[in-house]
Amino acid sequence: MGPPSNNVDGGKNALLRALPSIEQLLRRPSLEPLLAGVPRARAVSALRLAVDRVRARLLEGDARSFEDSDVGEALRTLATPGLRSVLNATGVVLHTNLGRAPLAPEAMARVVEVARGYSNLEYDLDEGERGSRYAPLVDLLRRLTGAEDALVVNNCAGAVLLVLAALASGRECVVSRGELVEIGGGFRVPDVMRQSGAKLVEVGTTNRTRLADYAGVIGADTGLLVKVHRSNFAVVGFTEEASVAELAGLGLKRGVPVFQDLGSGALVPLTGEGLGDEPTVRQVVAAGADVVAFSGDKLLGGPQAGVVVGRAALVSRIKAHPFMRALRVDKMTVAALEATLELYRDGRPDAVPTYRLLVQTPEELRARARRLQGLLTEQGVSARVDGVVGQVGGGSMPLARLPSFACILNVGAPEVFLERLRGGGTPVIGRIADGEVVLDVRCLAEEELRSVAEAVAAASPGKPP
Ligand SMILES: *Cc1c(COP(=O)(O)O)cnc(C)c1O
Repeated sequence: MGPPSNNVDGGKNALLRALPSIEQLLRRPSLEPLLAGVPRARAVSALRLAVDRVRARLLEGDARSFEDSDVGEALRTLATPGLRSVLNATGVVLHTNLGRAPLAPEAMARVVEVARGYSNLEYDLDEGERGSRYAPLVDLLRRLTGAEDALVVNNCAGAVLLVLAALASGRECVVSRGELVEIGGGFRVPDVMRQSGAKLVEVGTTNRTRLADYAGVIGADTGLLVKVHRSNFAVVGFTEEASVAELAGLGLKRGVPVFQDLGSGALVPLTGEGLGDEPTVRQVVAAGADVVAFSGDKLLGGPQAGVVVGRAALVSRIKAHPFMRALRVDKMTVAALEATLELYRDGRPDAVPTYRLLVQTPEELRARARRLQGLLTEQGVSARVDGVVGQVGGGSMPLARLPSFACILNVGAPEVFLERLRGGGTPVIGRIADGEVVLDVRCLAEEELRSVAEAVAAASPGKPP
């Protein structure tokens, strides 16, 4: 492209100068119906946004000047929350970008109840004095994991930081080279560890680390033996690693505690089609880990949180660290986590959405995909039902291949189609495989199918965007 001619530029400048002022727009009769009943401050915000957008458009060389419809669009933007619900047709159950674990109705109800007014968050109702915000969670976590004590912080990365800072700051923590993982979003466990002030001592190799490798570096300065669960990748082939039980035996002999960063943290065994065997927290505690950290919103299926369980003496040292306050959870997290843990205590893991979504049978999924297909047909959209493979996601069970079912749409331009699906009133998130649009039904509730079908119909070629 050559330099813009003066003529074109002059036209652009004239259009920019001709942009109406906010005062003019507030008095413009043709906008009255649109702005009727809109609070003045919001109307002004919408008009500013509309004018800003038109200015940006003109500067980009689009010569459409100000139209009343620009105000309608700005009002719609202001009325749409930045954070809102989407329909997950990706088949990935713990999708970190889509908010990870959906909460159980019991957990949501508890959040609403507690958030609405005051609560005994840090108030002991028996004694009438200050209490601990973690008290309701500790008993449940002890019972569900077999550990002596527990604490809860903002997320598992925070839990790892806290544990290392409290137990190994200024000292050495020993970790296998095969377990220095990147969690996602560019965050690496070794970086988190270094920020704790602990000195990282790497042992073994990427594929093989033996107990003797750990034993060989333990000295007076060793604060912690660390094991990081390979939750989002797998090492296969010529491999070897020291088990938690072996490390615990070594730690006991040499007087060094063993910390397992478990990441996903299942409270009950997950036995479903395509699911691997993920150790439960109870198993890791029973194997002898002194401290275990795991996420609240991965396989546990609760709110975002980082749970630490372990030996009472170590957990109380961790609780006393200043990071504990910096990483503390709010009342809504305590409420949601307590209600979720109660479902496990009461033997109702089926009531936890994450668990239920993972253990669905292929037959259930096929039937749901057929129902979606029927609803699509009603909307004049043709789709075929086919078997697909989904993932657990959220850095959990990397090898699990979940057999699922999907409605598959053969549309001209799948990327454009997915974009239109995302842009609708209720965004639907799908994926592309082999040039076709795949709508996996694993994470779609029965009552969401109609909305998906309507969104697909609205996004289909020939319909206005
Ligand atoms: C996911 C994961 C974390 C981080 O958990 P968040 O709750 O997302 O902070 C830490 N360690 C491991 C091994 C993980 O898999």
